[in-house]
Amino acid sequence: MDDKKTTVSHALKQHLRAIRLLHHICPGYFPILSLYCLTAALTPYATVYCSARILSELAGPRRAEALWTWVAVTVAVVGLLQILKALLGQRKDTLLDDLFDRKDILFVQKMFSMDYASLEDRETQDLRAQIQQNEGWSGWGLMRTPQIFEEGVQAVIGICSGIVLTVPLFLQPVPDAAGWLTCLNSPFYVFLLAAVLLGISALGGRWESRVLHSWSSVREKATFGNRLFGFFGFIGLRSERAGDMRIYDQQRLVDAYWHGNSVFGCEGPIAAAMAKGKAGMYAGLSQAIFAVLTGLIYVFVCLKAWGGAFDIGAVTQYVGAVTALAMNVYGVWARVGEMKTNAGYLDQTFTFLDLPNGMYQGSLTTEKRSDRQYAVEFRHVSFRYPGSDIWALKDVSLKFEIGKRLAIVGQNGSGKTTFIKLLCRLYDPQEGQILLNGIDIRKYNYRDYMQIFSVVFQDFQLLSQSLGSNVAGAMNYDRKRVRRALEDAGFGDRLRTMPQGLDTQLYRDYGENGVEVSGGEAQKIAIARALYKDAPFIILDEPTAALDPIAEADIYSRFNDIAGDRTAIYISHRLSSCKFCDEIVVFDQGHIVQRGSHEALLHDETGLYRRLWDAQAQYYVNQ
Ligand code: ADP
Repeated sequence: MDDKKTTVSHALKQHLRAIRLLHHICPGYFPILSLYCLTAALTPYATVYCSARILSELAGPRRAEALWTWVAVTVAVVGLLQILKALLGQRKDTLLDDLFDRKDILFVQKMFSMDYASLEDRETQDLRAQIQQNEGWSGWGLMRTPQIFEEGVQAVIGICSGIVLTVPLFLQPVPDAAGWLTCLNSPFYVFLLAAVLLGISALGGRWESRVLHSWSSVREKATFGNRLFGFFGFIGLRSERAGDMRIYDQQRLVDAYWHGNSVFGCEGPIAAAMAKGKAGMYAGLSQAIFAVLTGLIYVFVCLKAWGGAFDIGAVTQYVGAVTALAMNVYGVWARVGEMKTNAGYLDQTFTFLDLPNGMYQGSLTTEKRSDRQYAVEFRHVSFRYPGSDIWALKDVSLKFEIGKRLAIVGQNGSGKTTFIKLLCRLYDPQEGQILLNGIDIRKYNYRDYMQIFSVVFQDFQLLSQSLGSNVAGAMNYDRKRVRRALEDAGFGDRLRTMPQGLDTQLYRDYGENGVEVSGGEAQKIAIARALYKDAPFIILDEPTAALDPIAEADIYSRFNDIAGDRTAIYISHRLSSCKFCDEIVVFDQGHIVQRGSHEALLHDETGLYRRLWDAQAQYYVNQ
């Protein structure tokens, strides 16, 4: 991320895109922020202008009525601006919190909508992690935009107001009686002051952006430091580590981290780059140069006042206005530098958000059939995982018979789960077709298509939500049906021991009242969830892997009854679990090598099924 190569127009383009995007997800924020910027930028100038009028009156005519008027105007204008600024500030801060949430939702939605293959891709995951780390470490990326916008717009309004208040400084000449001081009336001084002001402000702004650049250039160390801190800083809170920590006195290793390796410590690499390196020098220089500028402004304005061009009140106005003008020019330069640095982070963000979603673009709706007559067929399907040379599935052809029980068996790594992933369109095959009622499944609307399947994956996940919401996948649900599904899944006895019934919170992530369920119980809840969905296809992909073979066989055969008229697909590497199925398909190294009923397959003494059966039967006996 080299911001020296980033052009201003590219930086501007990326930030305008970021503003449009953020405005889209939270339309109220930027209008309020703009109004806030206007009041914030005008307040100091209004204060300077009004106090200058009061001082002029005091130092000059001293008319009581005029003084009272100016005091009243000052209180009214400055007070009103301050009140507006505070109200708008509160509102913009609240909206900013909202914007942060919505921005997170944007990323979550992106993850949901992108191709599953992209989601699994290491590079995509790294990119997402980097975006998050850069934001967490120093607010770089999308959410830097509101800050740049706020400071940039204030600076621009500040420049305009500053010019308006500064113009009279040059229009009010030093009278001829002032002798040599009349030389200050020369237009040369207008250009000189403008040049010095622009030059110094620009230099200061550039130096500040170099500080930001140095800060950005330590991002890898800083994000690594954050990761270390996240690990070591909270290690004491992790109950799963408490045993090891105590028995092996691991505190010594943690202490070594704090005392020797802390990335953020005084002796760490960031301190070396920031405080001791060039960044520290630039930060000092950018402030020092302003002291010089302020001095020059005072000299020029005071000399003109000494020569009689204006009174003491005007001195306050001009010094205040020119200094603020310089600060705002400096601000614009610094923001341009900041935009250039941030553009690299926005490039990353947009690379992520622009990742194509090529898979889930089908538009056909699946007809809703109460007779569940959905015929699915694999026709010469072959598939390789992205980046892999090995075919995980090769030339697989299979037609599901509606309402039947189909088992897919085979050793680990033979392609069973891949087969289900293709069926659920987590991936598309490179060769062949998968058809639903004769039409390629890619043509269907993905959400519609997914309504046809209930899958209990090996690594199913429950949420820290109520039991009922977990089963129904919704906050409002049919309680009777949820209870029925839990009963059918074998969770009924456990449910009756729960005083809060379906409203019982699962897990303790969000409170002490949560209930920790065992692996077996969680699996029953996952099965209930699949039953509640009531889809025409129900698939169990070894969700019982943690159970012993007898318990797995028990669940599979019980499931046979509750699957009713659905088409059920069972996956297992344990043949005994599936022997009751109408048809068993045997996978080996991505190929279908056998198919038939349990009895027929056992008959084939040279077949893989028979060999696996004998090997596993022996194993169960030895158990
Ligand atoms: P099974 O479910 O029968 O145990 P899988 O379908 O999970 O087998 O795996 C089939 C083959 O695909 C195996 O060789 C496995 O290593 C490979 N494989 C599975 N998942 C991935 C993945 N995400 N990326 C690359 N290869 C994979």
